Amino acid sequence: MTTVELSVEEIYDLARSCLLVNGCDEANADAAARTISAAERDGALSHGLFRLPGYIASLRSGKVDGTARPTEQQLTPSAIRLDGNRGFAPLAIEYGIPLLADAAEEMGIAVLLIRNSFHFAALWPEVEALAERNLVGLACTVHTPMVAPFGAKKALFSTNPISFAFPRRDQDPYVFDMATAARAMGDVGVAARDGHKLPKETGLDKHGKPTTDPNDVLDGGVLLPFGGYKGSAIATMIELLAAGLVGDFFSFEAAKADNKDGGPAIGGEFILAMSPETLAGPNWSRHSEQFLSELEGMEGVRLPGRRRFENRQSTDTRSVNAELVTTIRGLI
Ligand code: NDP
Repeated sequence: MTTVELSVEEIYDLARSCLLVNGCDEANADAAARTISAAERDGALSHGLFRLPGYIASLRSGKVDGTARPTEQQLTPSAIRLDGNRGFAPLAIEYGIPLLADAAEEMGIAVLLIRNSFHFAALWPEVEALAERNLVGLACTVHTPMVAPFGAKKALFSTNPISFAFPRRDQDPYVFDMATAARAMGDVGVAARDGHKLPKETGLDKHGKPTTDPNDVLDGGVLLPFGGYKGSAIATMIELLAAGLVGDFFSFEAAKADNKDGGPAIGGEFILAMSPETLAGPNWSRHSEQFLSELEGMEGVRLPGRRRFENRQSTDTRSVNAELVTTIRGLI
């Protein structure tokens, strides 16, 4: 793979210019470019510049409003509904997280229910933003069907990601962010592009047969949930939280509403925030730290998020797929 070297600032500028030229206003372009460049900075490549052509396709097709502003409705002191008004999720999230954090600090626990928004990114930014406020965060969202429930051969779930962050004093939070599919579809796309095989039990081809070829999965096949029936149950929970509870589309409904332009699908996001100070009391950090340092000190263990946090420290340029950069420059 040929790559070009770009600084994180250059990645941000490239994404921002491309979004601005294609119909985003400043606020939406800034928020989406921050999300994209943060993903490249952290080495979360399946949700960095790789996603930009999809964002642009959905602006060009008119599916997403690049000038949308989120509007909130306070359902109760601890429940906020946020309407994305058909905009990209990054602006809705940047707008909604401070409201959610304020409510969780006051009430001990609060939820943010984002509707009518287009999510195409990783889910760690929202929970890390909560951890920065010393709150525990949990987020999940849905997309369109790509994953067969355990035992089935046809897709009903999306790759249904879930993220969780637990704050730690004076250091990075404990955070995981994962698709509940055996692999994120973005990673399958990256594997196909780079000529890599998939691990076994990742997907089925269009005839329902197991395959390790990412092109078989992309060509009418399906992904499988991680961990068999257990992953299938967690994916179901995510559909019920991010669609049933939020009051937006389930993955199968979002697919019917989508114009298939290759961009994100409309849908909801469920974000929960909890205050350990309120719920556990002032000893929460010292107590949890005893557990986390036990965990971290065990031979063979590395905490999720560590790879990203280490990448984040680097001030070096990032190596970006040259073909992708050419494609993006062609969209400006
Ligand atoms: P991975 O399987 O790469 O990683 C999942 C989590 O496990 C990460 O927190 C990762 O930390 C951690 N991890 C990885 N390897 C290890 C290890 N050896 N030991 C301990 N922890 C480890 O992610 P996925 O492919 O499942 O998901 C990728 C991204 O795709 C996520 O950010 C997700 O939000 C996003 N996504 C978004 C969708 C959307 O619709 N918006 C849909 C589906 C996925 P680390 O990052 O530090 O490696």
